[in-house]
Amino acid sequence: MAGCTLCPRRCGVDRRVKTGFCGMGAMPRVARAALHFWEEPCISGARGSGAVFFSGCTLRCAYCQNYPISHEGQGQDISVRRLADIFKELEGQGAHNINLVTGTPFVPAVLDALALYRPGIPIVWNTSGYETLETLRLLDGAVDIYLPDLKHVSPRLSKLCAGAPDYFETASAAIREMCRQTGQPVFDAEGMMQKGVIVRHLILPGCTGDSIRVLDFIAENLPRGIPVSLMRQYTPEPWCRIPGLDRRITDAEYARVFARFEALGLNGFTQEKEAADSAYTPEFDRTGV
Ligand code: SF4
Repeated sequence: MAGCTLCPRRCGVDRRVKTGFCGMGAMPRVARAALHFWEEPCISGARGSGAVFFSGCTLRCAYCQNYPISHEGQGQDISVRRLADIFKELEGQGAHNINLVTGTPFVPAVLDALALYRPGIPIVWNTSGYETLETLRLLDGAVDIYLPDLKHVSPRLSKLCAGAPDYFETASAAIREMCRQTGQPVFDAEGMMQKGVIVRHLILPGCTGDSIRVLDFIAENLPRGIPVSLMRQYTPEPWCRIPGLDRRITDAEYARVFARFEALGLNGFTQEKEAADSAYTPEFDRTGV
């Protein structure tokens, strides 16, 4: 792994001897591998999504709910063989899919593990959207479903939240590539997604104007029929020091963004307030690792 350039940070470090921005070494590190029931209904279904939560993150938003793994790197280093066995175990537990959460620093290991064991269920790439086209092309054919976030349009906001003023430019190009790879969404007879892209957007407090720019971009630039998941569960975390992000969104803020979602004729998923109030962050206690 000499000169890692797997993500847009392009640190260029040899991760066998040094870590880059993501804080990860050469081995895959996983914090939890278990059935997960809190994705969109066509991903979680009745039996759950087989979520593999990788440690480290290439974006590291200040408001991240998964701080212990994304910022602090908690988790356990495992071999490629063990990763392949985890895929098999989750499939055996009845998972509808294998859901690889923030796996970008470990793309070569993921591909090697899939070469050892390719499950008979869809492979989901669950990402911040901050991806290079080169790395996405490595995943072409290996990934069936992409679940990218599209977080912010404003370079100022992306710089403030994640030190990545190029976030929108990068993520928007990445999502177009994801749509190119998978085409229109495909669902099975039970309504479970088999192939496609779901674009997720989390509304931030005080940032509804930026949310509307995100929705406008989707409507104007992505193929019609790509589902959009509009999320209202933003939760202020004690580690987030950004002024204004210390509260939940209001009903009025949600209503404003939702009105645009409807006016643009977008379809996909929206959250009831009750669901947002019970937003669920799993224990990163190495379950299933
Ligand atoms: S994956 Fe990690 S080390 Fe590699 S370029 Fe991205 S942040 Fe840097």
